[in-house]
Amino acid sequence: RICKETDVKILIINAGSSSLKYQLTSIDENKIIAKGLCERIGLAGSALIYKPTGRDAYEFKKQMNDHTEAMKMVLGALIDPTIGVISGMEEICAVGHRLVHGGEKFTGSALITDEMLATMEELTELAPLHNPANLMGVRACREIMGDIPMVGVFDTAFHQTMPKKAYLYAIPYEAYTQMRIRRYGFHGTSHLYVSERAVALLNKPAENTKIITCHLGNGSSIAAVNGGKSVDTTMGFTPLEGLPMGSRCGDIDPAIVTYLMDKNNWNTSEVCAYLNKQSGMCGLSGVSPDFRDLWVAHNNGNERATAALEVFCYKVKRYIGAYAAVMNGVDAIVFTAGIGENDSGVREWVMKDMEYLGVDFNLDLNRKCPRGKEVELTNPNSRTKVFVIPTDEEMVIARDTARIAKL
Ligand code: ADP
Repeated sequence: RICKETDVKILIINAGSSSLKYQLTSIDENKIIAKGLCERIGLAGSALIYKPTGRDAYEFKKQMNDHTEAMKMVLGALIDPTIGVISGMEEICAVGHRLVHGGEKFTGSALITDEMLATMEELTELAPLHNPANLMGVRACREIMGDIPMVGVFDTAFHQTMPKKAYLYAIPYEAYTQMRIRRYGFHGTSHLYVSERAVALLNKPAENTKIITCHLGNGSSIAAVNGGKSVDTTMGFTPLEGLPMGSRCGDIDPAIVTYLMDKNNWNTSEVCAYLNKQSGMCGLSGVSPDFRDLWVAHNNGNERATAALEVFCYKVKRYIGAYAAVMNGVDAIVFTAGIGENDSGVREWVMKDMEYLGVDFNLDLNRKCPRGKEVELTNPNSRTKVFVIPTDEEMVIARDTARIAKL
């Protein structure tokens, strides 16, 4: 392996059941060298999208039957003599894998070993859709890249600092001890990244900061980060809890589940599909899960789109209030992800009437907020700051991978 201390290149992999996203990052230069994805793995019409930084993207339509074939295509493009960005696989120092569920076993990122993979297998029943797909990505890399150091970075790990009172459900305690039913939380790498950036912007020691991070994207969650540690978050046992999302319902009375099943004579997968795929903004508005479409419909007088936007912003506001209460105050509220970073309308509706929290929100700045930049949206004297901070989960994965692989 040609891994110079001054030129550490990390390959980041995010494997889904039929997709594989990748990004080659240079740690020292703090930049993306190339990125892209394989789509429709194992299905008809699979394709590799490959985008070297600073050049146009390529699309290669080629049958990929499994993740190993997909990884071969990815590496083939990266080292290709004409379109590639590195001379050989040896230039990649380590691989960082995005892994969804670390249960209570992983409180931080971990080196991938046989033992670690066996523990991951044990956690499969907690994330039956995601963990097996993540593991396919890990195995494919091992097969093709040999003994390269690999690190797993978990979506749940950052929230393992939640106290018991925040993660227990009030159902019989045995559900927790015997079936591991508790709140885990997700989007941890994003909440970690933006809360660390907020600490830097506040220019205070992390121990003395209280931050509420709002990751609002296709999936949405909010976290309360006290002294640099997650103390509560809105997603729970699965990503279905908390805020309403594109097509997920978020918090509902659990009695609705059994009522729906009885009324419609539905089985578990039917009720799951209803709550995960047909609900949220999509189901409420009848328009779309995408907030851009919802605002267009709202501006055209579509009452259901208005109601969907109001429900969403109200829930965000409610959790911000709850988390300020939990931490006995808040120094900064952070907006991130697709909606948080781009949707000034959502930010405006959420931040309206928040003077009680010491927020002096600048509506004009909010409307003019430039894309892709860290911006403060409150006036200079505002006791509580509001920031837009573009998330960078890949940065956390690359950094943890380099640290744990001791590069
Ligand atoms: P994912 O969870 O898939 O990473 P993102 O964080 O990229 O999702 O967020 C995607 C969502 O962000 C879209 O569904 C859309 O609702 C919203 N979004 C993206 N761009 C804008 C925009 N310019 N204005 C309003 N909403 C946007």
